[in-house]
Amino acid sequence: MVVLEARDRVGGRTWNRPITGGSYIDAGAEFVGPTQDRIKALAQAVGVETFPTYNSGSNVYWKDGKRETYAASGPTGIAPPDPAYLPDIAQIVQKLNTMATEIDVEAPWKAKEAVEWDSQTFYTWLKANEVNPDFMRLASTATDAIFGQEPRDLSLLYAVFYIAASGNETNQGTFERNFQTAEGAQQDRFVGGSQLISIRVAGELGTSVALKAPVQRIVQNAKGVKVVAKGGRVSAKQVIVAVPPALAARIEYEPLLPALRDQFTQRAPMGSYAKVDAVYERPFWREEGLTGQTVSVNGPVRVTFDSTPNEGSPGVLLGFIGGTDARGWYGLSAEQRRQAVLDNLANYFGAQARNPLEYVENRWADERFSRGDPVAGLPPGVLLDFGTALRAPVGRIHWAGTETSDFWVGYMDGAVRSGERAAQEVLAELP
Ligand SMILES: Cc1cc2nc3c(=O)[nH]c(=O)nc-3n(C[C@H](O)[C@H](O)[C@H](O)COP(=O)(O)OP(=O)(O)OC[C@H]3O[C@@H](n4cnc5c(N)ncnc54)[C@H](O)[C@@H]3O)c2cc1C
Repeated sequence: MVVLEARDRVGGRTWNRPITGGSYIDAGAEFVGPTQDRIKALAQAVGVETFPTYNSGSNVYWKDGKRETYAASGPTGIAPPDPAYLPDIAQIVQKLNTMATEIDVEAPWKAKEAVEWDSQTFYTWLKANEVNPDFMRLASTATDAIFGQEPRDLSLLYAVFYIAASGNETNQGTFERNFQTAEGAQQDRFVGGSQLISIRVAGELGTSVALKAPVQRIVQNAKGVKVVAKGGRVSAKQVIVAVPPALAARIEYEPLLPALRDQFTQRAPMGSYAKVDAVYERPFWREEGLTGQTVSVNGPVRVTFDSTPNEGSPGVLLGFIGGTDARGWYGLSAEQRRQAVLDNLANYFGAQARNPLEYVENRWADERFSRGDPVAGLPPGVLLDFGTALRAPVGRIHWAGTETSDFWVGYMDGAVRSGERAAQEVLAELP
């Protein structure tokens, strides 16, 4: 067995990026929560523990120049208790959760209403169901943070599937489990950073892992498969391609892949997303009774979290930029980008936030081997007509990566689940 990794490091969309003072930030995936059993089992197997995301005190809500705080332990959790939006939050979430019960996560395209749901965007459905026409602004904050996509970019079926996938074999997926901090996907973090899991696994695999080896071509025939990477080639019986569909499409296949698979990969865009981190001497917002979590309807940074390491210092605030905000922000100059982010943070946390010791941008759309993040978001019509090509092996080629998971698509847990499924497929094929 050999692993060919394009980058000069393992971990992909997880990355412990060093910061001044010897600490690090989670430049990519950071949070883990209930029912994400497979990533937790893998972490445990390599001795990586979790600790709770800082969630004591009040969250900040920002809307058009007005700042409010609300208890993180309140009934809405991280969702702001804005009277203008509360009726919509309640009824939209309830409807989505009910719709999610109709989805089989292994084949969402088979849902009774799959044609109806995959023939419209999430935006169209929200517009038809909202009470307050202004609700789209908050909905956009949610989809920007979860997918790096706007409601108009996403198929309704895909959005409902994502909710159904926010659970496991014994717990029905719900919006709350996806979105919330307490009892949700943002509940905990990994001590030492998420990438530590991959670093430890790679350590066990030793010389079987080849870095700086981007795969360029995969040739298969009756006898086996030849994988041509920069700097070398490998002959094998079976191969697992564990990269997002948009990256899988950049590999040459011989013979050509079936049309359905090739066309699927032409229709699975990566999210427009960035994570920014501002590093301070200490997490000063905690002293003011704030969790460090923000929900804002004005960008570019619309969602923040306290990303301070387990040791308690330095203080780190992370901000997510997604969707339309990200598309504009990526095109700004470095100074303009920094200014826009620090303006947001100063609005949410006061003037102190304007002067970080260090400011770090994690611009995954500029990364050759990611091209966007956190996940591929599917537009209408893709799951319905191309869904069967998502995981179906093509001869000796098997597909893994979080985008191919049943539960927790888009998350580290989905990545591990998909890897376990692909490994089983391969083992079943080997003599
Ligand atoms: C900013 C950000 C925040 C996120 N937040 C969270 C979070 O809080 N919790 C969570 O669970 N998830 C989160 N995610 C999503 C999570 O990171 C992914 O779901 C998960 O890491 C995907 O793992 P993967 O193995 O499927 O894909 P990747 O991690 O993308 O791995 C694919 C690997 O393939 C390599 N590669 C690409 N092309 C080639 C090629 N041609 N040849 C060889 N190698 C190649 C890449 O370098 C990469 O290492 C976040 C992601 C980002 C970027």
